[in-house]
Amino acid sequence: MQVYLPEGIHYLMVTRFKSMIGRLLYGAGFFYGRIRAGYVLCGVCIIACAVLCKPIYAYAAEAVSDDAVRIVIDPGHGGENLGADHNGYLEKEMTLIVAEAMREELEKYEGIEVYMTRTSDVDMSLEERIDYASEVDADFFFCLHFNMSAEHDMYGAECWVSAFGECYARGMDFAKIEMRQLTGLGLYDRGIKTRLGSRGQNYYGVLRMGDLAGIPAVIIEHCHLDNYNDEPFYDEYDWLVKYGKLDATSVAMYYGLKSDELGADYSDLSYEPTPVPSHVVRPDDTPPDRMSVVYGEPYRTESGTWIDVEITASDTDSRMLYYSYSTDGGVHWSERYRWQDDQGQQIGDSILTDTIHTAIPVSSDRDMYVMFRVYNLYNLYTDSDVYYIQKAVPEGEIYQEGEATSHGGDTQSLSDYEGYTEIDRDEGADDALGTVLPRDLSGIMLFGLIAILVLAVLSVLGIMIYVIRDHRRMK
Ligand SMILES: [Zn+2]
Repeated sequence: MQVYLPEGIHYLMVTRFKSMIGRLLYGAGFFYGRIRAGYVLCGVCIIACAVLCKPIYAYAAEAVSDDAVRIVIDPGHGGENLGADHNGYLEKEMTLIVAEAMREELEKYEGIEVYMTRTSDVDMSLEERIDYASEVDADFFFCLHFNMSAEHDMYGAECWVSAFGECYARGMDFAKIEMRQLTGLGLYDRGIKTRLGSRGQNYYGVLRMGDLAGIPAVIIEHCHLDNYNDEPFYDEYDWLVKYGKLDATSVAMYYGLKSDELGADYSDLSYEPTPVPSHVVRPDDTPPDRMSVVYGEPYRTESGTWIDVEITASDTDSRMLYYSYSTDGGVHWSERYRWQDDQGQQIGDSILTDTIHTAIPVSSDRDMYVMFRVYNLYNLYTDSDVYYIQKAVPEGEIYQEGEATSHGGDTQSLSDYEGYTEIDRDEGADDALGTVLPRDLSGIMLFGLIAILVLAVLSVLGIMIYVIRDHRRMK
């Protein structure tokens, strides 16, 4: 094959041999095709460079995007593991819809890579989920759930975080943002909590294994599927998409991301980071320390006879969450009511002694043996003494202060059954794992560099040989 140069260039580069480049190129046989070995050698070198540079470029590109946050979204349950199942609502299906919406929203932000443990209805063990997060070198693991309680009497949103070190601190930082958003929708605030198993480790599997893998994780229990209080917050498909977007926004806020598409910029958002605890952050394992109830005088309204009640409770470890009452001495109990102030506001974390006001209807059929029960954030409760109220005939002074008796929390959330016992399932999980890029390319890189170096040295040697030979011939 011959390549003809324009006369001028030929003159400058080849005939006159003025430039070193001209000599080299000429020597390599590039232009005159005289020396086919030069062609072959250089051709091989170029192809080899192109092939071997590809993984290096990929690695370089990856190294550049290493600034990107890498998160894993974990739609809870899947396959035979249905999760909460109530009135046709299936947790495993709902978490997947939320997760897809969360991913879609997050991908509109810059500087984030989003992975999902599963994208279809497959069984996956908790270990597989965390292993996947490790494989993709995740910075954070978001575990999406919906809740249910054994007695169908609980409602509200809550987050669970690790009880240990850095994972606790980062989990708390994110969960505070997430809970602010969830309660902003009108959901009741069940708090951000830790929970320990019998061996003093994190109770929940993904938190326990996340700690071992060095990946902060949070379990988001968006709301309860079995209580009328929360029903307006999940009864339409749109709600699930809304949760997905809300979860995504919390992540964007936490990492200070920005999105031109959404017109959102959280890069200036700052928050006080939770200090890394030096020891385990234990959940409250004692019921409210003290409770007392003050009853008013019975009074008539159009809706019947009522008695005002003032309930005071204190707990040195955690705040109060609900109260309920019984009118038959503790045999049957009312639904759980919100522990909130007279303005209808939930009382904050910092207040450990609270007084709330409420009123209960007085039966006109029978005498009542009234007891009140207060529940703290960890579902542990304390009962008041029994207080006698005569059937709806208001008479005399019936002012009395009840003494408190305490009980352990025996009403368990369904989340009690989520994740402590590890069940290994092998089938179907691979489908959900997706493609994992090799992270450690140093071996390939080293090989590529050596190969290119050898080829480059050979090329230079070849060129030099031909230059010298041609130089001699020109003489
Ligand atoms: Zn769940």
